[in-house]
Amino acid sequence: MNLINSILVKFLSYLPKWIVKPFAAPYVAGVSVDDTVKTVKALNEKGFLTTVDILGEHVQSPEESFKIRDEYINLYDRIKGLDANISLKPTHLGMEIDPSLAENNLLNILKKAKENNNFMRIDMENSPYTDATIRIYKKCLGEYDKVGMVLQSYLKRTAQDIINLDSDKFNCRICKGIYREEEEIAYYDKEIIREQFFNDVKAILTGKGYVAIATHDISLINKIENWIVENKIPLDRFEFQVLYGVPMGNKLQQLLDKGFKVRNYVPFGEAWFDYSIRRLKENPNIMWYVLGNMFKK
Ligand SMILES: Cc1cc2nc3c(=O)[nH]c(=O)nc-3n(C[C@H](O)[C@H](O)[C@H](O)COP(=O)(O)OP(=O)(O)OC[C@H]3O[C@@H](n4cnc5c(N)ncnc54)[C@H](O)[C@@H]3O)c2cc1C
Repeated sequence: MNLINSILVKFLSYLPKWIVKPFAAPYVAGVSVDDTVKTVKALNEKGFLTTVDILGEHVQSPEESFKIRDEYINLYDRIKGLDANISLKPTHLGMEIDPSLAENNLLNILKKAKENNNFMRIDMENSPYTDATIRIYKKCLGEYDKVGMVLQSYLKRTAQDIINLDSDKFNCRICKGIYREEEEIAYYDKEIIREQFFNDVKAILTGKGYVAIATHDISLINKIENWIVENKIPLDRFEFQVLYGVPMGNKLQQLLDKGFKVRNYVPFGEAWFDYSIRRLKENPNIMWYVLGNMFKK
C-alpha cells in the first residue's frame, strides 16, 4: 500500500493544478486572504487558536521580499479581532540574499504586530540560517516582547540553545525539524529525536519560557501531557500546535476539552501546490480520505 501511495503522490505532482486542488484542500486555507479569514473564523468557532503563514520561501530579489513584507503587514489588519497571529520564514523575507534585509523586513512587520498588539513567530529553516535567525529573534525581542521563534529537536545544538535563550520572554515552538541535515549536526534516529523533543519541552517548562509543542505524534503528545499534569505546569506556559489538515483523530478535541490551548498553523497563498504535494508525500493516506469524502458527496 505504501508503495502504491507513493507512486500515486508522485503521479499527482505531474497533473494540472485543478486536478490536484481537492487533494490540497485539507492542508491550505486557499489562495487569498479572504479564504484564510474564513478558515480562521471556522477554526476559532471550534475553539482553536491559529497562526497564519503566507506560503513561500527563498525569495531571490529585495523587491520580492518587500512585497512579502507588505503582504504580512496588511495581513495583521485583516486578522484583527480573530484568535490569530502570524508565522513567517526568514528566507521568504530575504534571508538568503542578505540577513540584514530579512532583519529589516522582520522589524517592519514586528512594528505592525506591536501596533495591533499581536504576536509574531519566526519559523526556523535549515541549519545555515539557524544562527542568523536566533540573532534576528534577539534583535526583535529588544523591540517588542510578543515575538517567538522555533527550535528543532533533531539538531544536536538545541539543548544548549534553550539554555542560552532561557528567560521569561522566551517563547519557543519546539518541533522535530523538517529539513535534511548532516549527521554531524543532527540526530537521525526517530526515537532519539522523540526523546530530545520531550527533553526540550521539559527544559523550557522547568526554565522560565513559554513553549508551543508542535507535533502530530500522538504518543509523544500523550507523554508530554502526562508530564505537564504531573508537574502542575500552569496553562499559560504552553500550547499545542498542529499543521492545519493533518489528521489527528479526536486528539485535538480531547486537548481542548481538558482546557489546553491548541493552535492550527494555517498556510495560504499562491505557492499552495508545492506545499500540498510535500504534505501528501509526508502522509499519502490523506488521498484516501479525500477520495472517500468525494464519493460520500
Ligand atoms: C505547527 C507546526 C509548525 C512547524 N514549524 C516548523 C519549523 O518552523 N521548522 C521546521 O523545521 N519544522 C517545522 N514543523 C515541522 C516539524 O518539524 C515536523 O517535520 C513535522 O511536524 C512532522 O513531525 P511530527 O512531530 O508531527 O511527527 P511524525 O512522527 O513525523 O508524524 C506523526 C504523524 O503525523 C503525520 N504527519 C506529520 N507531519 C505531517 C504532515 N506535514 N502532513 C501530513 N501528515 C503528517 C505522520 O504521517 C505521522 O502519522 C512544524 C510542525 C508543526 C506542527
